Amino acid sequence: QCITHCPVGALSERDDTSKFWEAIADPEKTVVVQIAPAVRTAWGEVFGLKDKDATVGKIVDALKKMGADYVFDTSFSADLTIMEEANEFVHRYTSGLIGDRPMFTSCCPGWVRFVKSQYPRMTKSLSTAKSPQQMFGAVMKSYFAEKIGVKPENMVSVSIMPCVAKKGEREMELFHGEYAGHDVDIALTTRELTRMIRASHIDPKSLEDVVADRPMGDYSGAGVIFGATGGVMEAALRTAYSIIKKENPPADAFKPVRSKAFQENDGTVEAKFNIDDIELNIAVVSGLGNTRKLLNKIERGEAKYDFVEVMACPGGCVGGGGQPVKDGYELAFNRGKKLYFLDENSEIRYSHENKDIIALYDEYFHKPLSHKAHELLHVHE
Ligand code: SF4
Repeated sequence: QCITHCPVGALSERDDTSKFWEAIADPEKTVVVQIAPAVRTAWGEVFGLKDKDATVGKIVDALKKMGADYVFDTSFSADLTIMEEANEFVHRYTSGLIGDRPMFTSCCPGWVRFVKSQYPRMTKSLSTAKSPQQMFGAVMKSYFAEKIGVKPENMVSVSIMPCVAKKGEREMELFHGEYAGHDVDIALTTRELTRMIRASHIDPKSLEDVVADRPMGDYSGAGVIFGATGGVMEAALRTAYSIIKKENPPADAFKPVRSKAFQENDGTVEAKFNIDDIELNIAVVSGLGNTRKLLNKIERGEAKYDFVEVMACPGGCVGGGGQPVKDGYELAFNRGKKLYFLDENSEIRYSHENKDIIALYDEYFHKPLSHKAHELLHVHE
C-alpha cells in the first residue's frame, strides 16, 4: 500500500486504485469519472511530457482506454458551484446577512475541516454550496443517471483530484428521493491516476485528445481557474457582477485577486471593488498558517471583508497533496499560470454562459438556490 502525506498535514493518502479496477470489472456498474482542473497542470510531469502535450483530453483518452464508461471535466461543476455560490453571496449581501464576518468559500475540505475544528464559531459563515467534486457526483447520480436510465446504486462515481482531503470529503451523503448513497464513491489523486496509466501499460505519448462526454461537457475559463489560489473568487465575482448589473463585467475586471508572486503578503491578497453603489471588500488566502493569521485579524476586528476565499494548500489545488511530489513551492505558482492561460484562451469566460449549465437549470434545477438545488447542491448542517 502506498502511503504519502498531505502538505496540509492532516491526512495520509490511502491507495484506492483497486476499488476503481473492481468497479470497471463489474458488468452491473456504470463507471463515471470526473477530472479536476488542477490535475491537467501536473500529471504530465510524471511522464516528462511538455505542457502543450499534457492536456486534459489525453487524460480522458487514458480513462476510456482503462474502461471508464463516461468521463467528464470537473470544470463543468466548478461552473455549477459558481452559479450557486455567487447567487448565495449576492443574496446574503443584499439581505444584510453579512455583518462583521464575511462569507467564506467552502470548496476546500482541508479548510472546512480546519475551521470546524479550530474556529467553530465561524462555521456558519461558510457558504453552504458543495464543492465541484460533490456537486458533480450529485448531478451524476440524479440528472445524468435519469438521462441514461441507470439506477444511482448501479453508478460508480469516481473523481480524479489533486487532493488527499477529497477522500474524506467524498464520505458526504447524497439524499435524493429514496436514494441515500454518496455523491462520490471513489476519490483518486493525480498520483494514483499516473500509477494506473503505468499499470495499464498505456504509453502517454500514444494518447490523443478526446473530448469529455455530454451533456455535462461544456465549461468556462472561470471553471478552469478554480485550481489556482484566487480562481474561485475571480470566477464568483464575474457571475456576482452579472447578477447585480444584468450585464457582464470585462472578463479580467477582477484580476487583482490573483497572486502576483508566490506567497506574497503571507499568501493573502486583498482587493476592493465597486459594483454600482456596492463596495466589496475581498480577501483571498492560501496555506493554513496564513489563514490562521487572517482569521485572527477578523476576530480582533482589525480586518473586515465581505467575501473571503480560503485554500488550505499554498497556491491552491495546483499545489495539492495529491499532485506529483516535486521540490519547490514555486511549482504551484507556475502550475496556476497554466490555468490562467487556459482561461484567457477560453471561448467562454463566465460560468453563467456555460450552455450545459444553462440547460441543466432549464431542465432540472429551474434556478440557482431552488428547492431542488438546495436538496442536491448544498450541505445541510
Ligand atoms: Fe484539497 Fe489543497 Fe485544493 Fe484544499 S487546496 S481542495 S486541501 S488540494
